[in-house]
Amino acid sequence: MTERGFDLADRVAARRDSTLYRDIAPVDRVAERSYFAPDPGRDLPVLDGDEHLVFAANNYLGLTQDDRVQDAAAQAAEVVGTGAGASRLVTGDTLVHRDLERRLAEVKGTERALAFSSGYAANVGTIAALSPDVVFSDAFNHASIVDGCRLSGAEVVVYDHCDVADLERRLAERAAAAPEAAADESWLVLTDSVFSMDGTVAPLEAICDAAESVGAWVMVDEAHATGLHVDGGGIVQRAGLEDRVHVQMGTLSKALASQGGYVAGSESLVEHLVNEARSFVFSTGLSPPAAAAASEALHLARHGECRDRLWSNVGQLRNGLEAVGYEVRGDTQILPIVVGDRDDALALERAVRERGVVAPAIRPPTVPEGTSRIRVAPMATHSRSDVEHCIEAFRAAGEEVGLL
Ligand code: PMP
Repeated sequence: MTERGFDLADRVAARRDSTLYRDIAPVDRVAERSYFAPDPGRDLPVLDGDEHLVFAANNYLGLTQDDRVQDAAAQAAEVVGTGAGASRLVTGDTLVHRDLERRLAEVKGTERALAFSSGYAANVGTIAALSPDVVFSDAFNHASIVDGCRLSGAEVVVYDHCDVADLERRLAERAAAAPEAAADESWLVLTDSVFSMDGTVAPLEAICDAAESVGAWVMVDEAHATGLHVDGGGIVQRAGLEDRVHVQMGTLSKALASQGGYVAGSESLVEHLVNEARSFVFSTGLSPPAAAAASEALHLARHGECRDRLWSNVGQLRNGLEAVGYEVRGDTQILPIVVGDRDDALALERAVRERGVVAPAIRPPTVPEGTSRIRVAPMATHSRSDVEHCIEAFRAAGEEVGLL
């Protein structure tokens, strides 16, 4: 009989032989945080019992272990239930979801917001539901945007990373190529606001100008910005572009210390998504504890002092790493040290880990070949001495592996 299998063992073995192999819990790496860490700044590794400082989490405000956020989740579990039990459109809708969405819309300055079960589901479901004729997408956009574009069936035009001149050129070229059709087509410009592996910030105002000049819509993924800027908003709020960005999307899983995603925009956008976004319609509602935790975290991001502490730690860490000789890219809370070679990145990861700091190497395919890096990210809950410890670990590790 013909063999129609998938040779998975061989494929895994081939990958195992390369430095691109990954495992969920390799013994020489640690989980991002412990459920039992006694001090929020000290996210203890769960696997080997040694104490390490985690400088790589997306839990930027350190709110996953904040009492108030934990209490909100616990209370929602107790009062509302641990799971939504069904799609929001069936019986899964609760006041906890409505409260979260009201707060998101307030912070994002929009008429309405809609919670999804993940940021991935929000991007894929929203882009597919908009079903644009053409999308113009930044070359470094997140995988969930890329997958949303594929699923939407749109013609995809990729422009150079954060390069508005290239975007303008491609918009003009596409308009010239099919002038008749272009007039009736729906066009969508898609960008992350903060690029998670580079710490770069998209030039949103110029992107809006370019899009408006051809009548295109703009959709911005604020996954790595939500909660961190003006009044708990993202870069869209910092730049005052609420009225020019048609679709604001983000996750609840990073600064908002929970799980899930959201889209904020006009009443008609949300109404459309409630009806047409398949990842919303055909998926169980966000769990009430996750919704409650995110809602409380958003409240704290908006009114608390955790944002100030984060930005103070970012300044201290960036200055310290530069002072010991590293070139630190980007201009956000994400501080990438691009090493280049993937073996060097792994060596640096191991050497800082031996000094009590967890900051995993990022390798292809997450980043392009030859640009492997360590993505350092402080949290609001790190103390000044934690940050000093991190800087010293990177200094000593960099010297040991020959990068400084
Ligand atoms: N967009 C961006 C820019 C992200 O970094 C991520 C998560 N890594 C997502 C979307 C997906 O969000 P989630 O993890 O909530 O599915």
